Amino acid sequence: MKLTKPFGVLAAAMAVAISLTACSSPSTSDTKVAIGIKFDQPGLGLKEGDTYTGFDVEVAKYVAKELGYTDIEFKETPSAQRETMLQSDQVTMIFATYSITDDRKKKVSFAGPYFVAGQDLLVAADNTDITGPDTLNGKKLCSVVGSTSAQKVKDNFADQVQLKEYDTYSKCVEALASGAIDAVTTDNVILAGFAAQPQYAGKFKVVGKTFSVERYGVGIKKGDTELCTKINTALQKMVSDGAWQKALDDTVGQSGFVPDAAVNPPTPDACS
Ligand code: GLU
Repeated sequence: MKLTKPFGVLAAAMAVAISLTACSSPSTSDTKVAIGIKFDQPGLGLKEGDTYTGFDVEVAKYVAKELGYTDIEFKETPSAQRETMLQSDQVTMIFATYSITDDRKKKVSFAGPYFVAGQDLLVAADNTDITGPDTLNGKKLCSVVGSTSAQKVKDNFADQVQLKEYDTYSKCVEALASGAIDAVTTDNVILAGFAAQPQYAGKFKVVGKTFSVERYGVGIKKGDTELCTKINTALQKMVSDGAWQKALDDTVGQSGFVPDAAVNPPTPDACS
């Protein structure tokens, strides 16, 4: 009898601890899902006040609805934090210009791809000496930490360029506008979105010579093939019912960017 009370207290304390854990675990329930996007990439993932716009946002909304979610909490997933945010359950899915790579697949899994882009360069409209990645000798080049773009430059051009890395592309674009750097590198579709912003009208140009293939996948927790399969089914439906094309035209299309029709829309990879 004497032991009953302490055990009762312990059981009650454990029940409280369990329920607290349940409350603080990812903001995902049967109807609500936490989704990672970019907050500063016009045409792809952009937050303005409480409004989220862009192609990644539209694909995320479509997929979430197909999966039965009625409520989405969008969270910012900067390039360098994407794997960690999936691994730590802060988000269930990421739609954030997130290229499928073997390196990333060691930590996370991907559904898709749902879009294919290519790495390019953004320079001042009157620049004539930067015409491709092989003309960056001695130039100041900006990219984002944790991106495939920065990695590719490091691997292939690091000896020739001065690489400046920020955590978001909007900071690179501001530096280009102020003349602090000579070029920004990332995917062509992202660069086109920035170049089309009213405040930068006529200031920049995308060089137009891509030097990589970037296949945008939906980042999910490593090994969740069930979720991957459901997302791929939703993505295929989005293409076949015309919503994919409409979303693209309404978002990315506004910048005048023309996606490579030879590789878009892509067929999702098999889930593994
Ligand atoms: N698609 C590339 C990547 O996943 C560059 C864009 C980005 O950083 O989101 O790294």
